[in-house]
Amino acid sequence: MSTFPKEVWLSVSGKSYVQGECKIIARVQPGDDVAAIQSHYGRRLMWYEIGADGIEDLPFLTSLKGQRVRIHADTAVLTGLEEQMRALRQTRPVFVLKPGVDILRQVNVIASIRFRVHIDASQEVTDIGVMRKLTDYFLYNPVLMSPIEPLTTLLAHLTRGKGHTLWETEHKRPNAAFLDEKWRVTASRRWAEREEFYGSFEDGWETLSSSPLADRLRSTRRTLIHASKSCTTCRHLVLCRGYLKARDADAICMPWQESFDQLQTAVRTSHKIINTFTGSGNGLDKR
Ligand code: SF4
Repeated sequence: MSTFPKEVWLSVSGKSYVQGECKIIARVQPGDDVAAIQSHYGRRLMWYEIGADGIEDLPFLTSLKGQRVRIHADTAVLTGLEEQMRALRQTRPVFVLKPGVDILRQVNVIASIRFRVHIDASQEVTDIGVMRKLTDYFLYNPVLMSPIEPLTTLLAHLTRGKGHTLWETEHKRPNAAFLDEKWRVTASRRWAEREEFYGSFEDGWETLSSSPLADRLRSTRRTLIHASKSCTTCRHLVLCRGYLKARDADAICMPWQESFDQLQTAVRTSHKIINTFTGSGNGLDKR
């Protein structure tokens, strides 16, 4: 049986029990045995990932008490029921949202009850103006108290002149890996959705981490800077480092570029606003 070393952070289905020393991110859903997963992985378990069905199922949600939970919800699924709110507050939730047409309303709802939000930059932006509206909300809403990633981290980067880029906010770490239900391994959900894999779990980490895809991803930033004219000349290279075009060289960056422009303008013109955010302790979501 192949085992992965402890420096690997592996995302696995709640039904796939993996041996070894690697850190685990467990993708679970109602019906999965959270107690058994917790017992099997112990301190190796970094956080859980659930979908919208996970927060609609109260007994399941309650079973995640005390845990870090990233919630991938395509639609606002908060019912406002007292029991659901109480169960959510007993976890440490981050709502991961796709930048669709309804995202501003979703962010408003979630942030207003002080839950953390992460806009999934790996997903296509379907409404051209949505990132502009969202960035306005992030920068100028005087009652916003929750971080909205990756904007919070990128703003801090601009303010300090150094820090994490989109690669770190979205990819998390160099040894992050994703195990799908067929026991195929790749870098993240982003690559699994494209059916691009390092290989099979049984190949072992040494072989997988030197696969052609892993090699390509390691050198993606360097390759993009040399090969993609649009990245080479892009004024946002310092924040993005080619992340938005890493999977598809024809990907449209304009909505995010508009957001980056707003962040840069805010840094240049309003130190008071910037200090409010960067002084709040917000930063790269450690998950
Ligand atoms: S915003 Fe687009 S063009 Fe600019 S660095 Fe990122 S991927 Fe390249």
